[in-house]
Amino acid sequence: MALPSPLMPIYAQQPVRFSHGDGPWLYDTDGKRYLDCLSGIAVNTLGHNHPKLVPALREQIGRIMHASNLFEVPLQHTLASKLVELSGMDNVFFCNSGLEANEAAIKIARLYGHNKGIDLPEIVVYEKAFHGRSLATLSATGNVKVQKGFEPLVGGFVRVPLNDTAALENIAATRPNVVAVFFEAIQGEGGITPASIEYMQAARRICDAQGWLLMIDEVQCGTGRTGKWFAHQWAGIVPDVMPLAKGLGSGVPIGAVVAKGAAATTFKPGNHGTTFGGNPLAMRAGIETIRIMEEEGLLENAARMGAYISAGMTRELSGVAGLREIRGKGLMMGLQLDRPCGHLVAEGLKHGLVINVTAESVVRLLPPLIFKQEHADLLIHTLAPLIRATLQTPVEFSTQAKTA
Ligand SMILES: *Cc1c(COP(=O)(O)O)cnc(C)c1O
Repeated sequence: MALPSPLMPIYAQQPVRFSHGDGPWLYDTDGKRYLDCLSGIAVNTLGHNHPKLVPALREQIGRIMHASNLFEVPLQHTLASKLVELSGMDNVFFCNSGLEANEAAIKIARLYGHNKGIDLPEIVVYEKAFHGRSLATLSATGNVKVQKGFEPLVGGFVRVPLNDTAALENIAATRPNVVAVFFEAIQGEGGITPASIEYMQAARRICDAQGWLLMIDEVQCGTGRTGKWFAHQWAGIVPDVMPLAKGLGSGVPIGAVVAKGAAATTFKPGNHGTTFGGNPLAMRAGIETIRIMEEEGLLENAARMGAYISAGMTRELSGVAGLREIRGKGLMMGLQLDRPCGHLVAEGLKHGLVINVTAESVVRLLPPLIFKQEHADLLIHTLAPLIRATLQTPVEFSTQAKTA
């Protein structure tokens, strides 16, 4: 434990080492079994060791993994066509991660502004947003902890509160250099806070009136997690730019920016690029993930299991003071407690449950979309007592016991 580590000391890690997984189960090196209610932070859409995904990826690795974007990659066309069909948008750029997708979105917005003759374009971003940890994306992020020490931040961002239409209208009236609005359909790291249906519709309307790009970060909430392919579809709108990543490859690193209209034709040859992005292995992972989700009805399953878990938690915790709110949609859920609860992560592990706590006091659940009712029942009946115990402990003690 006290050995010097060859790794940069970046993460506060739980002392658990997973050796393998199967469906919604993870097994540690001692053979102990855990129910995965986190999916590697919304990544393992199909759970672990999926019987259709694994052979397809094996086959792809044996065929070709990478040749670069100097050559045409047919699988990029296949996956892009599918994303265009599911989103009602026009075209796609592939990269390798969420921050890369967001970085590309920010570049599209700036170039779109320059093309309109705006030399110092501004992008509207949000309090409590999370967009990644590159310089531009951490600057767009609304969390000083992510930004501290990395100043000077990238400029050109104007920040407003989420779900405040008047604030956005005020920006329209006072900031002539704004070119885009950029928010998560459901804020993930910020505490599972959905943009309201009305707000998404108002943002679409204001963007249309102003000639701004509506850019919706679906890196965490996209790819079926909420019970629709993309979380903004609950509002019946279509954005101009949509970054995707996490769940799209079921564990294989992938990112994508889906664009529509003027945003789809903003990048010209030489404006952007990537070495790894769009490689055949990642493309195959994306294609198979979507194909298997369709075959197994996982959108409907995500909606049904999400409603079931949230009803179950509500029932089990009814009358327990200190549970402020259960938020989210489908299998992207947050239980807002009235106090810090980071210690619940270790408590969960002790009881064979992989969960997460974000924004200090929000228990975050992101189970794989293959979750069945028996898994949901186990989650409810294991987690509810742990939360109840936390909330029945005096606040002072609970705060001291906070570990994360
Ligand atoms: C995780 C996340 C990112 C960053 O993705 P990385 O792959 O870690 O770079 C960006 N936006 C949102 C909404 C996220 O949840």
